Amino acid sequence: MKILVTGGAGYIGSHTCVELLNKNYDVVVIDNLSNSSEESLKRVKNITSKSLSFYKADLLDKKEITAVFSDHKIDAVIHFAGLKAVGESVMIPLKYFHNNITGTLNLLEVMNDFNTKNIVFSSSATVYGNPASLPIKEGFPLSATNPYGRTKLMIEEILQDLYRSDKNWNIALLRYFNPVGAHESGKIGEDPFGIPNNLVPYISQVAVGALSQVSIFGNDYDTPDGTGVRDFIHVVDLALGHIKTLPKLFTNPGVMIYNLGTGLGYSVLEMIKGFEAASNKKIPYKITRRRPGDIAACWADPAKAKAELDWEANKTLIDMCKDTWNWQKKNPTGYQKTQ
Ligand code: NAD
Ligand code: UDP
Repeated sequence: MKILVTGGAGYIGSHTCVELLNKNYDVVVIDNLSNSSEESLKRVKNITSKSLSFYKADLLDKKEITAVFSDHKIDAVIHFAGLKAVGESVMIPLKYFHNNITGTLNLLEVMNDFNTKNIVFSSSATVYGNPASLPIKEGFPLSATNPYGRTKLMIEEILQDLYRSDKNWNIALLRYFNPVGAHESGKIGEDPFGIPNNLVPYISQVAVGALSQVSIFGNDYDTPDGTGVRDFIHVVDLALGHIKTLPKLFTNPGVMIYNLGTGLGYSVLEMIKGFEAASNKKIPYKITRRRPGDIAACWADPAKAKAELDWEANKTLIDMCKDTWNWQKKNPTGYQKTQ
């Protein structure tokens, strides 16, 4: 079985490539390296002692995608490629709509041309907007609060329309909660360009001394300690969710939708404390204003994925913090400047 992984050099993509290779899938990666480095894929090969085919290609260029499908008979696509910074999407929405939506349309058109009609799409818990109750189930109402989230929602709808038009498509919409952590080897992990937007990469850069303190965006939420609560999920558990999805995709299920989360909510303060315990470092923090657009709390009901995919997250908060720290301390400046 040959799997095309778009965005495979990125954070979740690289961890998924490891698990695909461990399960003896053949892997082809397309990535334009706009938010990643080819070094991640070298390390994927190092971890697994297996090879993969890499194309530095842009989904905005249909000819480049076509070339990959001409070279390989692809059985299914796992589609991670996209821009993902919420704040940036508010500033430059057209870039987000163009990259994420046009890129996906190009990919789908080429898949259609080559009669490859199996796709796993990286959606996000952001499609639930501000949920009326918790935990979040797949049938909850959907809404978007920013252009990034709107691209996820639109692509979900595009894929559902595609299925309505042609029942030969098989589509998995995987709604990720908050991926954190790194491979236990410490060889691959999250390597954000510039100052991190997300909590855990920010904490870990404070721990390593690259940043001075964490700003906690509000401690007046209606949560147990007043700080935001999220369903943080270890990236390896998340990657394994894709591995569990593939066999089901090949049974002609049509459209499937799953939450990939742990079902547990941890607060910003609990994450900081967990990271202090895992790293044995003091993490200075200050309380600042709420970040516009943030919701108080969000966690998944992952029961559907457990029942239908036989998948559940197994790693703990301490695993997430320990593995993030192991990656960060071995690679204090990410992929570019260390080996
Ligand atoms: P990432 O930025 O590390 O990986 C995305 C990869 O896609 C990058 O390597 C980037 O270079 C590549 N890419 C972007 N546009 C491209 C294009 N036009 N052509 C080819 N390659 C392109 O992000 P990630 O955290 O690994 O996220 C993967 C997917 O999961 C994204 O679609 C993201 O929206 C989604 N997701 C992420 C999170 C999260 O918190 N990390 C949560 C929910 C959903
Ligand atoms: N957060 C924070 N400081 C930061 C980054 C994030 O307090 O520097 C909080 C944010 O308000 C939210 C939680 O951490 O409550 C998770 O934010 P993140 O950006 O990691 O993920 P999101 O759930 O927003 O996608």
